[in-house]
Amino acid sequence: MYITVHAAAGAAIGTLIGSPILAFIGGFISHIILDMIPHGDEGIQNWKLFKTKRQRMAAAGLIDFFGVALLLAFLINRVDITLLPGVLAGMAGGISPDALWGFHEMTGTPLLNKYRSWHTLGHDFITKKKITIKQGFAVQLPFLISFIWFTLR
Ligand SMILES: [Zn+2]
Repeated sequence: MYITVHAAAGAAIGTLIGSPILAFIGGFISHIILDMIPHGDEGIQNWKLFKTKRQRMAAAGLIDFFGVALLLAFLINRVDITLLPGVLAGMAGGISPDALWGFHEMTGTPLLNKYRSWHTLGHDFITKKKITIKQGFAVQLPFLISFIWFTLR
């Protein structure tokens, strides 16, 4: 799923867990579970605007980065201040699996080969069927809205 959705999931979990370390782990686990739902991100590889896979990944990553920044700016003034440590740690945990994955994609480091196949395997855990980017948006938007709502409830 998009990193913005993963960050929102982490924030929602963070409202339930006071300990930042546990909130981080909770966010990390939520990422792996959410990735099992078909979400259409693979369609980015057919993005005509850019020539190489690396360019497409960098562009999508940048857009997602702004999504996370906007989400953070939106939440930071609205979340109960006592929940903020858990919310921020949960967001970091939700983002980190894709940060690791992206680091491997960009650098090709063999240190993360096993992690990479494990993360990718999760995507096929429920079904190998892939959906389009548009369908992916339709799947991910309700999750995003629900997580934001849950974080602010
Ligand atoms: Zn992921």
